[in-house]
Amino acid sequence: MDFGYSEEQLLTRQTARDFCEREVVPYAAEWDAQERFPTDAARKMGQLGMLGGVIPEQYGGAGMSYQTYAVLLEELARYDQVIGALASFPSGLMGAGILLYGTQEQRQRYLVPLARGEVFAGTGSTEPRSGTDVAGMTTTCYRDGDSYVINGAKMWISMLDEASFFLTFAMLDRSKGRRGICAFIVDKHAPGLRVAPVKNKVGYRAISTGELVLDGVRVPADNRVGEEGQGFNVVMCAVENGRLGVAARAVGVTQACLDASVKYAQERIVFEQPIGRYQLIQSKITDMVVNVEAARLITHKLAWLKDQGAVRARRESSIAKMFATDVLMRSATDACQIHGAYSCSPEYAVGRYFRDAKFFQIVEGTNEIHRVLIAETTLGYRSG
Ligand SMILES: Cc1cc2nc3c(=O)[nH]c(=O)nc-3n(C[C@H](O)[C@H](O)[C@H](O)COP(=O)(O)OP(=O)(O)OC[C@H]3O[C@@H](n4cnc5c(N)ncnc54)[C@H](O)[C@@H]3O)c2cc1C
Repeated sequence: MDFGYSEEQLLTRQTARDFCEREVVPYAAEWDAQERFPTDAARKMGQLGMLGGVIPEQYGGAGMSYQTYAVLLEELARYDQVIGALASFPSGLMGAGILLYGTQEQRQRYLVPLARGEVFAGTGSTEPRSGTDVAGMTTTCYRDGDSYVINGAKMWISMLDEASFFLTFAMLDRSKGRRGICAFIVDKHAPGLRVAPVKNKVGYRAISTGELVLDGVRVPADNRVGEEGQGFNVVMCAVENGRLGVAARAVGVTQACLDASVKYAQERIVFEQPIGRYQLIQSKITDMVVNVEAARLITHKLAWLKDQGAVRARRESSIAKMFATDVLMRSATDACQIHGAYSCSPEYAVGRYFRDAKFFQIVEGTNEIHRVLIAETTLGYRSG
């Protein structure tokens, strides 16, 4: 086993660090407070090849190994998890769906500019009444000549305002259950498509998230991704990429919680000595140190498995996603406790880490579902 970083990974980490100190640190709190998308930073990330992730170079991507990708996301998220999220989207469901199931024409038209950071896009799977149960969607589609007509609504969709197009899903034949679902690329300006962002969110504030309404939206048949009935496979084809991305970002934010807590514990004087001298504070620091290390190793093991060509790594991706995000939630809570009242001041970033942490436990499969999946694969009730 090799626990070290390669030259390429060290360089990637340093590039991310330099970029964030220059382009992210001065603005991250402002983006969060004003719910403002980091347009300039995102554009520069595209130019630096930071958005291309694991997408092959021939499709505009950076062709990174999964391990290098995890190093990049962790480092970006250490400074701002939204910046980390931006770097993860093209390699997640959106990019992988088009890469694996899209036609050459779809890859050239949509994946190449997405991976280069020339455009942004969103993925609409969750609905107002079905999140975890993806196949329980009520959005429908029917074929009409050379196009499909989609009716329904998606909810909690990220990049609503910024996206040029959406990868979304609709039920063509309910009698077939999950085999009746189709995937489509829908242009943002298609007649009948409306977006309604949720304002003043608790976390993930710099990225707009909300409702995507599809009211008789006509989509050319050429924009169907995969065959009729393959929509559920498209949703599931990149779950490990998504979970790896969330886990790596969670490790980055946990490291940020630890860094901030160490600094504050050394500086804050109470009863005439730094609070870091008190064992109850030390205990929280120790938990963060041990947990971030464990989360990092589990996450890198998943990335390593993907680099070995593992087609599926369901169990490992659930372990990494669940563990790293639970660790983040606990660490963010402790970091706030260490900061006392100052944790609710915008001057300190730990309040933002705490608000974002909760949603890490919810996105890319809730931690309850991962708990179920890990138990069921271990008990032999489903394959890993
Ligand atoms: C900031 C943010 C950004 C998001 N971005 C996107 C996006 O870009 N695209 C997208 O499609 N979605 C997105 N989502 C939605 C997210 O994927 C869903 O919220 C998530 O899948 C959970 O679905 P739900 O909220 O409907 O919860 P539900 O499925 O209604 O679950 C509610 C609760 O019940 C629990 N539960 C459900 N089933 C079981 C079970 N079998 N056993 C035990 N417990 C269970 C869940 O764990 C949860 O605690 C985003 C969400 C947030 C908060």
